[in-house]
Parts: sequence; structure tokens; C-alpha cells
Amino acid sequence: NTLLRAEEISRSYGNTPALREASLSVTAGEVLAVMGPSGSGKSTLLHCLAGIFTPDSGEVWFDGRRLDTLNDGRRSELRRTAFGFVFQFGQLVPELTVADNVALPLLLGRTRRNHAYARAASWLERLELAELGGRRTGELSGGQAQRVAIARALVTGPRVLFADEPTGALDSLTGELVMELLVGLAREEGTTVIVVTHDARVAACADREVVVRDGRVTDPYAGRVTDPYA
Ligand code: ADP
Ligand code: ADP
Repeated sequence: NTLLRAEEISRSYGNTPALREASLSVTAGEVLAVMGPSGSGKSTLLHCLAGIFTPDSGEVWFDGRRLDTLNDGRRSELRRTAFGFVFQFGQLVPELTVADNVALPLLLGRTRRNHAYARAASWLERLELAELGGRRTGELSGGQAQRVAIARALVTGPRVLFADEPTGALDSLTGELVMELLVGLAREEGTTVIVVTHDARVAACADREVVVRDGRVTDPYAGRVTDPYA
């Protein structure tokens, strides 16, 4: 039951190739860690899978539908309704309160105001942030801000949560707690998670790990038995 699949996708920035016929399948409910050196193409892969970028060639499929050939309007609607995003930093609006930030994706989706804030409040409670609902997000600690970002990413009930270095700006203990929380909630909700990370302890929370090298996706365990030094 593949939910999301990239098939031989390539993407360049000018003359710089970032992805070279990269392929990847993710099943429904799976938590996948994407690792690999800086500049190997991880972010570009994530952006193509999430329909933020379209690849120059190859195909992206989501839930039996071709994603990369949808027009911009339908692709952004799909992103808004089916996908959630957590990034390293910068995704919260500092002038707004915690509750406003979490309700925002629902308000943009034209959910009624009182319903949006009720949903936001219940997610804040699940993340033990209920008492911070009225604070401005600029005043939060890094770990609190990432928990708010997780609540905001999950409030719409996405099928897939994309996370790009979600713990990159946190100390390792806080990062591990934030990742455990993210994975625990995703499993309760049956949400598929694709997380780009440099942190092996974050990757250890995942069901499966792939490594991006030089624009291609590799299975880190492939060939290990016959060639341990490859
Ligand atoms: P990673 O996430 O693994 O660090 P990226 O997908 O960000 O890798 O980048 C892959 C390659 O594409 C790198 O060589 C990077 O310098 C290049 N690249 C990424 N974004 C841009 C951009 N906006 N303009 C030009 N080159 C880019
Ligand atoms: P990451 O490793 O998480 O992808 P980067 O620092 O590589 O983060 O990239 C941060 C931003 O800069 C991204 O939006 C990426 O597209 C852009 N970027 C990365 N490499 C280049 C580049 N060589 N030229 C221009 N923009 C780039």
C-alpha cells in the first residue's frame, strides 16, 4: 500500500544537478528518515515529494494520482489539505499568538473561526502547550516553538507530515523529545512521516532509513552482508 512515490525524478538548479533519477516509495503510516551529507539533495527530494517543486523529469504519485502534473492551484490545495510541514525554524508567525499560529492553516482553509480555535486548543492540550495559547511565538523556547509547529502541522489532519531538520536548531535532548513526540502523535493518527535529518538518534525513531547521496536514494543496508566496506 504505497501512499507516496517518486519515480526516477531529476531536478537541477541551473547547471547544478540536485536529484539524478531518484526513486523512493513510502507506505501509508510509515515513518521514514532521509539522511545523507549536506548538499546531497535531501531538501530538493522532500520539496518534490511534497509538490512544492516539480521535478524536471520523472514522476511523483500520491494516493494513486500523479502529483507533479497537477496545475499549481490543485497542487497547493493538495498541500493544504493532505500534507503538513515542520521545518527547522522560521515557520511560525512571531507576531501572532500560539493559538493563532496553530489555528492558521484551518482559517486559511476557510474552517469556521470557533471550530478552528477549538481544534487548535485540543492539539495544544495534546502537546502540553495549553497554558501557552495566548503567548506570542517569538517568546517561546526552541523546544516549545517546535511543539507549536508540530501542532500546527497536524491540526488539519494531514495524510503525510514532511519534516526538514525539525530538530536541527535544538539541543540533542530536546531534539530527541520533540522527535519522539512527533512520531508518537503521527502513529496515533496513522500519519505518514518523512523526516530529513542529520541526527542518527532522530533517525532511530523511524521505521526505515534511506540515504541520499549525490542526488540518488540508496538503501543504507543494501549490500552490507557481501561488502561491509562499500
Ligand atoms: P541537502 O538538503 O541534502 O543539503 P539540497 O537539496 O538543499 O541538499 O541541495 C542539493 C544541491 O542543489 C546542492 O548542490 C545545493 O547547493 C543545490 N541547491 C539547492 N538549492 C539551490 C538553489 N535554490 N539554487 C541553486 N542551487 C541549489
Ligand atoms: P538544507 O541543507 O537544509 O537544504 P541549505 O542551507 O542547503 O539547507 O539551503 C537553505 C536554502 O538555500 C534552501 O532554500 C535552498 O534551496 C537554498 N540553497 C541551497 N544551496 C543553494 C545554492 N547553491 N544557491 C542558492 N540557493 C541555495
